[in-house]
Amino acid sequence: MPLLDSLEDVVTFQQRASERQLSRLETLQTGSLIVVLLTLIAEAMGIFRPMVAKIQRYTSELLRIANRDPLTGALNRKGFADHAAKELSRANRYRRPTSFLMLDADRFKQINDLHGHGAGDAALSAIANALGECLRPADFLGRLGGEEFGILLPETSLQGAIAAAERIRKRVETLQVSSKSGPFQCTVSIGATEVEPGAVDLKSAMERADAALYRAKAEGRNRVIAAAAPSFEEADSPVVAHAS
Ligand code: GH3
Ligand code: MG
Ligand code: MG
Repeated sequence: MPLLDSLEDVVTFQQRASERQLSRLETLQTGSLIVVLLTLIAEAMGIFRPMVAKIQRYTSELLRIANRDPLTGALNRKGFADHAAKELSRANRYRRPTSFLMLDADRFKQINDLHGHGAGDAALSAIANALGECLRPADFLGRLGGEEFGILLPETSLQGAIAAAERIRKRVETLQVSSKSGPFQCTVSIGATEVEPGAVDLKSAMERADAALYRAKAEGRNRVIAAAAPSFEEADSPVVAHAS
């Protein structure tokens, strides 16, 4: 039946044409999907990456603010204690000496009274700057209270700490702080001690340094007094004095 045969040929031809069309459409659909996905990835990189970078910047800035004293830029008490704990754990692991200095500005109330609170603030900033200049990169400074600072000296025995404290004391003595009533000078008293081996925090070292600082004040100020840690003592007396 030639007519039926021809009809079948037409149907087969149309069917193949439709299949080709369908396959083209499928390819086009896959291509479009890839383009859409690539666009989405590009947008995500463009939008989310800067957003993540911004969040990271804010987080580190918040951490910095939480750990620093805004007036002097030194670590605050919490920042100093956290940093010290890390440093002590390193020192204990490698059995290395670490020393601690406690500094207090002398007769600071008088400075405020004579030159004004603003000048007192300027003096505290100047002292912190001077301390920073005297320290090695591994040393670190904290503002422990009003006009009181702490310094941790890694890899430093008591003798090294006394030498560093003397350098600091002399440097502060040369500072000229300007005020409306003219330039003025200030001094610091320092208690120095070596941290006892195995210590996980600065509690005992701070108590020793504080007692030495108290003696430095009692003996006339603008001086360094050192206190040996109990395990380093050879004599009965826990405190060795090193007056300027
Ligand atoms: P000493 O030599 O015995 O340490 O005497 P001092 O006057 O320094 O000690 P005192 O504890 O009597 O007074 C501390 C003064 O430090 C009083 C306080 O107002 C001042 N002070 C503490 N923090 C700040 C601050 O952030 N800015 C200013 N300008 N003064 C401060
Ligand atoms: Mg003081
Ligand atoms: Mg004080």
